[in-house]
Amino acid sequence: MTIKPAVYCRISDDRIPDDVPDERVEDFIGLGVRRQLEDCLKQVDTRGWGGVVTEHRFIDNDVSAFDRRKKRPEYRRLLRAIRDGSVNAVVCWHVDRLWRQPRELEDFLDLADETGAELDSCYGRYDLSTEDGIFMARLMVSLASKESADKSRRVRRKKTELAEAGKLLAGGTRPFGYESDRKTIRPAEADLVREAARKVLAGVPLSTICREWNDRGVPTATGRFWHATILRKLLNGGRIAAICEHTVYDRQLKKRVLASAVPTKEWPAIIDPRTHRRLRELFSDGARRQWDGQSASKNFLRGYAFCECEARLIARSSSGVRYYRCQRHVNGQPHGCGKTSARADDLEEAVLGQLYTRWSDLGAPGGSQVNVGVEFETLQDAVERAETKRRDWVRMYQADEITHDEFQEGRVAILERVAQAKRALANAEIQTRPTGIDWLALMKLADTASLSDPEQFAEARMLLEGMVKRVMLAVGRGDVVRRVIVEWRQG
Ligand SMILES: [Zn+2]
Repeated sequence: MTIKPAVYCRISDDRIPDDVPDERVEDFIGLGVRRQLEDCLKQVDTRGWGGVVTEHRFIDNDVSAFDRRKKRPEYRRLLRAIRDGSVNAVVCWHVDRLWRQPRELEDFLDLADETGAELDSCYGRYDLSTEDGIFMARLMVSLASKESADKSRRVRRKKTELAEAGKLLAGGTRPFGYESDRKTIRPAEADLVREAARKVLAGVPLSTICREWNDRGVPTATGRFWHATILRKLLNGGRIAAICEHTVYDRQLKKRVLASAVPTKEWPAIIDPRTHRRLRELFSDGARRQWDGQSASKNFLRGYAFCECEARLIARSSSGVRYYRCQRHVNGQPHGCGKTSARADDLEEAVLGQLYTRWSDLGAPGGSQVNVGVEFETLQDAVERAETKRRDWVRMYQADEITHDEFQEGRVAILERVAQAKRALANAEIQTRPTGIDWLALMKLADTASLSDPEQFAEARMLLEGMVKRVMLAVGRGDVVRRVIVEWRQG
């Protein structure tokens, strides 16, 4: 029988020493396989089997033979080659490269029995036609299997322990925003993380940010292009908020699930806990897809536009044209005077005009200060209490406990209380907003006043939230520019 030899090489990540820096891991994997390959080819030569054609050099990089979830494409290709007769002898470096699962060996033994394929390794030959040879192969593989299982269990237990203690795990790829030591912040990347968080919360789609970073030549931590999934993982993950997370593989769900999340002092946070919570909420709600694609709201003045009668203006589209309107009823409840409306484009343009005039007058601030000491919880409580009060008020009216006049009378004060609480909270948020506003982009925006671009929309919206208390639209149907009254925040 003519020998048609093949070599099989594999390196699993457990063979990479801990002191290899992350950026060199790939070299190391390549190197490890190269060494195995050289040894194997030498062994083929020693056996006098001649050369091994390139297509019969089977190499799986960084794939564990123990972990059943990981596929070994080259190993599968090798089995096919043996089955179709193009290969009838396999040389590996050590049998633990070929199998770490006894069951896989048994499958191979069946195949060898059918085809008469030979097995050789740089550590000795296995004559699979004899009981002794089969016994040795089984012994070696079961030892490798036990070693892997022990190591896997050890690693898993250690990881869980460390994660629950909020400790830094060794190894793994460099997290974006940090140096390879996983503790030192890489300032340029940290700025990008904050910028992304700010934009996402302002409604910029993830894909827009990714596109911009790719255009600017900003690579991921592993040197790849950004896409929405990677960015969401980064912003949704606890890492950037100094939260130590531990995930476990859930066999039923067939995916990794969060097992523990512990705040840690092992490495510094890039974003504050509150921003992180908001990102979490954003990504966890059902509208998640919205953030990957289209901008959340097209209404630039959402939440800020009021009628002269103090009722909030409602944004509505009719025949493709957007309007801000004072409606007499909202969801069946009495709302406003119903006497004013404006085309959204006109009103937004008028406000933008004033916004930029005001902004130029003030001069571009040098960036706001990060102030994490603000008592968010208290402010949030105030908003919640005011909202509860408002809901109670509406309920009393619905239950006929108060008359319509009484309802209207108390309503203004209650709404003002809600608005005040919300403004205080918004103010506090603005104070903690990280620096890094793209003032150049804002200048450009001032020229073009284009809100159709999601990013410019978000930047302008930030400016609006930072500078404007509210926008009042006077009753009537005349020129919008003359009917707009912008109430500015103080300072
Ligand atoms: Zn009104």
